[in-house]
Amino acid sequence: MAHVLIIGAGGVGSVVAHKCAQVPSVFSQISLASRTKCKCDAIAASVMARTGIDIATFALDADRVADSVALIDQLKPDLLLNVALPYQDLALMDACLKTGVDYLDTANYEPPDEAKFEYKWQWAYRQPFEKASLTALLGSGFDPGVTNVFCAWAQKHHFDEIHELDIIDCNAGDHGQHFATNFNPEINIREITQRGRYWEHGEWVETDPLSWSMTYDFPEGIGPKKCFLMYHEELESLVLHLKGLKRARFWMTFSEQYLTHLRVLENVGMTRIDPVDYNGTPVVPLQFLKAVLPEPASLGPLTTGRTCIGCLLKGIKDGRQKQLYIYNICNHEDAYREVGSQAISYTTGVPAMIGAMMMLTGAWKRPGVWHMEQFDPDPFMAALNQHGLPWQAIEP
Ligand code: NDP
Repeated sequence: MAHVLIIGAGGVGSVVAHKCAQVPSVFSQISLASRTKCKCDAIAASVMARTGIDIATFALDADRVADSVALIDQLKPDLLLNVALPYQDLALMDACLKTGVDYLDTANYEPPDEAKFEYKWQWAYRQPFEKASLTALLGSGFDPGVTNVFCAWAQKHHFDEIHELDIIDCNAGDHGQHFATNFNPEINIREITQRGRYWEHGEWVETDPLSWSMTYDFPEGIGPKKCFLMYHEELESLVLHLKGLKRARFWMTFSEQYLTHLRVLENVGMTRIDPVDYNGTPVVPLQFLKAVLPEPASLGPLTTGRTCIGCLLKGIKDGRQKQLYIYNICNHEDAYREVGSQAISYTTGVPAMIGAMMMLTGAWKRPGVWHMEQFDPDPFMAALNQHGLPWQAIEP
């Protein structure tokens, strides 16, 4: 029986709130705070209609540590679950330290003026969290998140050494829009337009953005799709924690239409993250672009098809070469029927709820700052099957 304070009322925040409400035996009290309170209220109304569970809502600018501290002091939650934006990570970790509350997020900190995906800023919190006997769990979404747990489970049960890892993220869904992103457009476009990077023989190798591709034949009728190599944050911790690893890469599918729009937007300067003077007002083009693009939360009723995200692992077991593919398939329309959101928000929000459940039940609790693969994967893998993200493991 615990009280969770969710920060962020976007696509992912909505799924987390609905999923926590489905498990009242763990989440006996749920509070939701975000910058725009009416969005929290709309989520609370939907949760009430679907589950009969009451969620308390609050306005909060989570960039302001003092405001978060005041809200935490007022509510006294057992866990702060951060599904606002990566920019708020450090401020919210500071607020947790000041109030003695455990912390969970789904995306690593990014400085607003620089698209840098590194854990170094959050790793700097290890000692303070240890000293305060508090647990911080980083990256409890799908990727990062479930992909890390898939790797830990493979390492525990299927391999003596994992030599090659390919994380492959396929959205075979369609929202019918000319151009829209399935999660926060600013964060999504910052991630996709940066240089690619993969890890080989102990070194990072850089590639031009989206310049490498392969075709992967996805299971269960999804079929072959073109996937592009890009850097993704879970690689940074996985290369430290997988035994014997020689190469680690991340791939994502994009449609031709998406890539054409992105190329044009980049070419005309609309993906820039530095301020441009517009009639005396500094405007960040990417932030303006976000304002005119569809909100990810609005794509729920429009999206059809499925996602398929998984890990393809190669290594050795008992002296023999072995391959394993562990994946989840999630249906956009099923997710919408259940919680009113499309599958990208769903596949992020469910693992955030499960990570919170692991912490609040004591299954995953240890002072310090941790990645998902550093805890026992078994209870998390079992919970995925129970809470809407069933997985398969096959030897291709
Ligand atoms: P949205 O843009 O839909 O929602 C973000 C929410 O955060 C909005 O409600 C926004 O408020 C709120 N917010 C922004 N700034 C502040 C602030 N200063 N104080 C309080 N609230 C704030 O994004 P998503 O729901 O799609 O994504 C949420 C998080 O999940 C992101 O960090 C994203 O990177 C991560 N993610 C992780 C994935 C994974 O697999 N690990 C996959 C997909 C997403 P407002 O409505 O006022 O703008």
